[in-house]
Amino acid sequence: MSNTKPFLGKATSNPSEAFPDVISLSLKITQDPSGWYSEREGANVRHMTLNSLSRSVGCLNKRCQQGGLDLQNIIMFYESGTFDFCCDGHEGSPAGRNKGDPCDNRFTVELEISRKKR
Ligand SMILES: [Zn+2]
Repeated sequence: MSNTKPFLGKATSNPSEAFPDVISLSLKITQDPSGWYSEREGANVRHMTLNSLSRSVGCLNKRCQQGGLDLQNIIMFYESGTFDFCCDGHEGSPAGRNKGDPCDNRFTVELEISRKKR
């Protein structure tokens, strides 16, 4: 997975430039609560800080197309807390011609964020 995709269409992949109002950030992302897709223990948990942030997290379901979790919106619009997201991918053909069943993977995000006062 690429870590260098720019945030917000800006010409930066540097999170502290993309989110200048964020002072500190801690993210714990747990996916695959049922353990169906994880090949090894712990593969479904990611920790990130402002310095190690990536634009999105990929879905562990190998059949999932266009899935994963976009972290940018979460960082822009959410306050600290625990949030649950469905993967919005689907188990279609790789060419994307047939839309298959929706991916049933889920992401739990534990977010601690502090922002500069506006
Ligand atoms: Zn998925």
